[in-house]
Amino acid sequence: MIFKKELTREHLNELFQSDEKCFEFLAELKWSHGFACRKCGNTNYCSGKTSHSRRCTKCKTEESASAGTIFHNCKFPVSKAFYIAYHVCKGKEDLSTYEFARRLSLRQMTCWNFKSKIQHALQEMNSLSDSEKLSIQKILTS
Ligand SMILES: [Zn+2]
Repeated sequence: MIFKKELTREHLNELFQSDEKCFEFLAELKWSHGFACRKCGNTNYCSGKTSHSRRCTKCKTEESASAGTIFHNCKFPVSKAFYIAYHVCKGKEDLSTYEFARRLSLRQMTCWNFKSKIQHALQEMNSLSDSEKLSIQKILTS
């Protein structure tokens, strides 16, 4: 177990309902060992324009909380993506993409695409970036 903190049922429900909480969660995860700018390595930052993003105080490069994670460039609310990711990773109940679509009020194709992305990521763990791996491992170990 890499992470000290486990996800409680309450925390999970918060994450499933709030994009804000998801970004907060991703930021904590991503920068759990501290911030370092991807461009210049500077460790000082201020908050960026988007939710829980961080901006390098030296070169002004901004990095979102989801950059480099499986939630990067997600075209629908990250809380819904989180719901799918959690259920696919845990694999306790095998929900169809139709069921995800119904529960989350999303198009089935959207759910299918994202579910495939997660499944692919799980198969290709070794070729993932560290933060992508972390975001999946966190879900897997919760
Ligand atoms: Zn920088």
